Amino acid sequence: MIDKHGFMKCISCSSTFNIDQNLIVCPKCGGLLEIINEKEVDIKKLKGKGVWRYKDFIPGNYNKIISLNEGNTPLIKSKRFENLFFKFEGLNPTGSFKDRGMTIAISSAASLKYKIVVAASTGNTAASASAYAARAGIKTILFLPKGKVAKGKLFQSILHGAYIVEINGSFDDAMDKIKKLFNENKDVYPVNSFNPWRLEGQKTIAFEIFEEIGNPDFIIVPTGNAGNIYAIWKGFKELMNLGLIEKIPKMIAVQSSGSSPIADYIMGNKEKIEFVENPETLATAIRIGKPVNYMKALKAIKDSNGYAIKLDDKEIIEGQKELAREEGIGVELASASTMKAYHKLLDNGYINKNDKVVLILTGHALKDPNIWFEEETYSIPPSDVEVLINKLKI
Ligand SMILES: *Cc1c(COP(=O)(O)O)cnc(C)c1O
Ligand SMILES: [Zn+2]
Repeated sequence: MIDKHGFMKCISCSSTFNIDQNLIVCPKCGGLLEIINEKEVDIKKLKGKGVWRYKDFIPGNYNKIISLNEGNTPLIKSKRFENLFFKFEGLNPTGSFKDRGMTIAISSAASLKYKIVVAASTGNTAASASAYAARAGIKTILFLPKGKVAKGKLFQSILHGAYIVEINGSFDDAMDKIKKLFNENKDVYPVNSFNPWRLEGQKTIAFEIFEEIGNPDFIIVPTGNAGNIYAIWKGFKELMNLGLIEKIPKMIAVQSSGSSPIADYIMGNKEKIEFVENPETLATAIRIGKPVNYMKALKAIKDSNGYAIKLDDKEIIEGQKELAREEGIGVELASASTMKAYHKLLDNGYINKNDKVVLILTGHALKDPNIWFEEETYSIPPSDVEVLINKLKI
């Protein structure tokens, strides 16, 4: 059945194709595919909650829908800043926004009758794929960088019964292995974010924000493989195409200074993106030197007149502490980078206090608690409690 409400287009060679969930990369040049959605949607008629509320925006045929009620995450208003909002994606079923894309990718795999899905992951894609595939009765094979995946995420993948292949190397090496496997073996369906169907689910972040607070001025997104920043931009672009908003919020990518190819390109006005060979950061979800979706991300940043910024790990940890202790929101390190980015962009005048800003808090704090046990001073001897109370009561 041909879906007449859209088509697919290669970002590299501009070839176009009919809508097909089996098309992951351009069959002509191997480039990334964009899904162009041309359906007229009446947003007032949408029903239900979460990602599938927006199914009219999502092309493709889904004779099986594999869902864990993902999406519909809270948009929490800052206690301290009048126009700042936190989109807490850590409250998705497996604790990250990956679930929004995974419901579409695994529903596609199930509808196409695949028995095996594969992914390379820094952790959250692995956790999400494992859970959704389990629900679909599909097997998952994961390629993970050995010793580099946060314990909570590795635990989730084991718990949901994925087959795990540990790679001596970085996430980027694991990704190379997935691409090779996918090129050589037609029995596996890849659910990494170079699969454009995943991004169709992730774009619903934009729709939820719009339905709740209208059109923000800025969206700040922690950026690794750079699919999510494009997905959110695409969501707003589709709202603009429907005449619901006049302009797209400025998309701001945040990276860690140990793995910042996109930020270096944008901030340095470079001619060409330079990949990072040995990316390093404690924020493992964005520890990516060769972002597979960089062309899409650059399109999103440029088209929205956005920007990119990088922070060192110390600053990212400060952001995590601040969100947890000032706002009561526990997020993993990658997500916390957005808090510090907001401060920096306020300080340098790029963002104004009156601008409506949304931070995308991509993953839950419980994913990766390790660094917090290294702090020696968290425990107080019982004999000091009396003194403590006397100090705190004033
Ligand atoms: C995957 C992930 C990111 C990065 O998203 P990309 O689409 O790869 O840029 C950021 N934060 C968390 C918690 C993630 O799981
Ligand atoms: Zn192409």
